[in-house]
Amino acid sequence: MSTSTESPTPRLDATGIAPILRARGVRKSFKHLEVLRGIDLDVSQGETVAILGPSGSGKSTFLRCVNLLEPINGGRILVDGRDVGYDVRGGRLNEVSPNELARRRRDIGMVFQHFNLFPHMTALENIIEAPIGVKGERRADAVKHARSLLAQVGLEGREDVYPRQLSGGQQQRVAIARALAMRPKLMLFDEPTSALDPELVGEVLATMKQLAEGGLTMVVVTHEISFAREAADRVIFMDGGVVVEHGTPQQVLDVPQHERTRAFLSRFL
Ligand code: ADP
Ligand code: MG
Repeated sequence: MSTSTESPTPRLDATGIAPILRARGVRKSFKHLEVLRGIDLDVSQGETVAILGPSGSGKSTFLRCVNLLEPINGGRILVDGRDVGYDVRGGRLNEVSPNELARRRRDIGMVFQHFNLFPHMTALENIIEAPIGVKGERRADAVKHARSLLAQVGLEGREDVYPRQLSGGQQQRVAIARALAMRPKLMLFDEPTSALDPELVGEVLATMKQLAEGGLTMVVVTHEISFAREAADRVIFMDGGVVVEHGTPQQVLDVPQHERTRAFLSRFL
């Protein structure tokens, strides 16, 4: 499959703005295992897209490719109109220096299943670390921003607590604030509530729903069907390294067209 005819400048969407994320024919293999077999996805500014799919379908790998954690073997990924830098041939870096790579990665925030906060740092210190250390923000500015982010994720005034003093749901909300502190153009969430006790899932989803409503551009891998229904503008169903089905939440969740989607969704009934 060739993508060489693809224009380097992404076409504008209906709003006249280039999509924040454009993935075209993305392929990724680990040795002989073909994990992504041609993924296409556009995400416009302010959109929230939920990715559903069974374990092993390539969801995490796709997010890791978008976030430059994995080189791809084919296709293209553009973030905010710029190629994220991996060569389509052989997955090598396209003459991108480590500094430039870090700069490009900065536009993308990622929240994982396991929040990985720095245990020896307070909530505030966790949040201001990268803005100061990576972006060179002034400490006073970073602190001010961090305080407002903590309020945004429902943890106003909790700047001086350490991760161990917080519940899993609160820690995950600090992790979200930490990612937002870099003012990313795109936020990726990889099963952000899968490691939480059931009673803590709701508070994290509520925070994410607010962010979606506030216009953040988000791609969320989740098994929370109700979140996909309520917060996503579009839902993608992946299986076996391809997008089997995509559409509005109503289309994909209520009237799925493919047997594989129906079989997957039936587990949640
Ligand atoms: P999902 O997130 O949908 O559960 P993943 O993207 O984690 O799926 O994995 C898709 C497939 O790729 C699985 O078969 C997994 O074992 C394989 N895989 C993922 N990462 C690696 C890796 N670093 N090396 C080898 N195989 C991998
Ligand atoms: Mg995964």
